[in-house]
Amino acid sequence: QSSEPWRDFDRSKVYTADLESALHYLLRVELATHSYLEGEELKIFKDFVVLVAKLYPGGGSVVKLMETLSDWLLSMPLKRIPYQAVLDLVDNKMRISGVFLGAELHWVGCQGSRPGLRGYPCSLWTLFHVLTVQHDAKPTALENTGLERDAAPVLQVMRQYIRTFFGCEQCGRHFEEAAEESMNKVTNKEQQILWLWNQHNMVNYRLAGSLSDDPLFSKAPWPSPSLCSSCHEEKNGVHVWNQDNVLLFLQQHYGASNLSPKYSM
Ligand code: FAD
Repeated sequence: QSSEPWRDFDRSKVYTADLESALHYLLRVELATHSYLEGEELKIFKDFVVLVAKLYPGGGSVVKLMETLSDWLLSMPLKRIPYQAVLDLVDNKMRISGVFLGAELHWVGCQGSRPGLRGYPCSLWTLFHVLTVQHDAKPTALENTGLERDAAPVLQVMRQYIRTFFGCEQCGRHFEEAAEESMNKVTNKEQQILWLWNQHNMVNYRLAGSLSDDPLFSKAPWPSPSLCSSCHEEKNGVHVWNQDNVLLFLQQHYGASNLSPKYSM
């Protein structure tokens, strides 16, 4: 990361290069630690692929790849799929369809000031925030997938994915605790967006000043007043969030029209 040139970016934008790098890392690094996918793991991976195929914005080559992968996984009679077969499919599809998920990771909004900071975990949060906003913007997208039966399908898939595959086990435990406590209170798509925002802020509070905190991107309640002044209010001298404005801000910030293709492959 540090040997790469710094890429200037705008904190008020979301970069498709980060979303693509998230999927690249997930498919080629995180999943590679599992030689086979079977049983519950296979189901969780399928759900994740279907979710991204249906909700990833833009309909470009990412969506085509994820659709191919989901068709293949759903048609597969095997109960146990070698990871290598998933990788072969991803590689073949890329050879046929041209560029996508290039050989390197390109962090932009998720660049760290030195190696080991930011990068993948940042991009995974970003991806799921985008998916919660897309689910609200495209309410019928998950029809006939089975996922739509859940009130908060994006959160449920994220919960399962983090619990089963995310490399940081401590993160998984924390996220699971939070999910157990309040995820079932989410009853609609707007609450789904806000639940993830609030949970992400809880993690920010906990990590502020910790070793994983990049000094250039110190953990703080988000969005800052400079990103969204109307999100912040004061009541009796105490800071409170204006949740209606936070929701509007999240819908705009993580919405399809705020995605920048700059530095994307
Ligand atoms: P991140 O927190 O990764 O945020 C990425 C970007 O999202 C920010 O740059 C900002 O633009 C935006 N953002 C910030 N806050 C919000 C918000 N509230 N809502 C919407 N957007 C926001 N690390 C640990 O050490 N311990 C943990 O328990 C832990 N749990 C994690 C759980 C999950 C599910 C994930 C995905 C990661 C977890 N991590 C944990 C990693 C940690 O949260 C950060 O991702 C990592 O430290 C990199 O931080 P960052 O500065 O890139 O910002």
